[in-house]
Amino acid sequence: MAKENLECSFCGRKKPETNLLIAGLDAHICDRCIEQAHGIVAEESRQSKSDDLSSELVLKKPVEIKEFLDTYVIGQERTKKVLSVAVYNHYKRLLQPSSKEDEIEIQKSSIVMVGQTGTGKTLMAKTIARMLNVPLAIVDATVLTEAGYVGEDVESILTRLLQAADYNLEKAERGIVFIDELDKIARKSDNPSITRDVSGEGVQQGLLKLLEGTVVNVPPKGGRKHPDQKFIEVNTENILFIAGGAFDGIERIITRRLNMQAIGYSASKREESLDAENVLQYIIPKDLKEFGLIPEIIGRLPVLTHMNPLDRKTLRSILTEPRNAIIKQYEKLFAMDGITFKITDQALDFIVDKAIEYKLGARGLRSLCEAVFTDAMFELPSTEETEFKVTKPYAEEKLSFETINKLKAVS
Ligand code: ADP
Repeated sequence: MAKENLECSFCGRKKPETNLLIAGLDAHICDRCIEQAHGIVAEESRQSKSDDLSSELVLKKPVEIKEFLDTYVIGQERTKKVLSVAVYNHYKRLLQPSSKEDEIEIQKSSIVMVGQTGTGKTLMAKTIARMLNVPLAIVDATVLTEAGYVGEDVESILTRLLQAADYNLEKAERGIVFIDELDKIARKSDNPSITRDVSGEGVQQGLLKLLEGTVVNVPPKGGRKHPDQKFIEVNTENILFIAGGAFDGIERIITRRLNMQAIGYSASKREESLDAENVLQYIIPKDLKEFGLIPEIIGRLPVLTHMNPLDRKTLRSILTEPRNAIIKQYEKLFAMDGITFKITDQALDFIVDKAIEYKLGARGLRSLCEAVFTDAMFELPSTEETEFKVTKPYAEEKLSFETINKLKAVS
């Protein structure tokens, strides 16, 4: 065939009408068709990538979500239930096909957990992220300041999330952000017990933007915004925000409100049914406002729940029951040296007693165990021992008064 008679096998254009005609085995393709085909390939792969993301996101029913939480978090039944529903609804909203005719827009179900430190708030967020297979960023609200002050801008929260997602933007945009110590950015005026300045309210306003669901320019490397740094645009629409805080002193606010409400009702009857030991369970959004959160923030964190203080029974279970319980971890460590690790119930009870006596909480359990087992972990691997049994007298000997005092100082 004469050269000028060649044509594109796809669109039929003659060679002179094209910029480029590439020959295959027994067909030709022109530059325009290549571009078009390239577009189709790109579109297809984008489509299948987002399908992949949807299938990577393992969404379970609320009952199954709670069952998963049960394997890692002891107690906190109410919060586990509330979280299971909130997480389910959040991701249901995210996976629903967007339809223009449907006017019902499901709103975000961002969460706030109120409870003392060490009661499992972070653990709860971590467990949910693990279950859903989504990236998680844990940030401390205390380091956040208003733009222009020393500290981190609120955008840095999203930098962390991007990092947790290995800079995969689509993954980050479906991730979870856990904001710890939300109470520390409460407005000072409403809460005289907070001495920190740099206007918590400014930070709350900044956070509000993220919670609302908007596109934020995020410096990928974090730090202060710098004019030369390229930004990544992150849409926070589908990010699940979980906030936590101890809200020290909020019990007083709750009790006062409850007492006010009781006036006019049959007060004695009310008191009977109230659990004075754990008033956190009666928390309502209004209490957070009185504590110093701005109403807009409260409105954007519609799921409010509380963590119970850990009692003896819970602490004891935490030692042995969760999937990666502390004692199970030591068993594994010793097993790697061919040593069978055993601990008596009395020794476990003793460790729990000390955690309670010295108010070390769940975090203290680990330090106490470390103090009891360190000598053995040092010596046994170099011996022929095949068993290590911890009894109460052994634990007592290792947990001398001085050791515990040291633990107390660091916790
Ligand atoms: P918070 O965020 O409320 O301060 P964390 O979630 O960081 O508390 O808990 C501290 C540690 O205590 C965790 O590593 C976890 O091992 C343990 N812990 C606390 N509460 C629980 C619980 N309810 N169930 C199991 N482990 C817990």
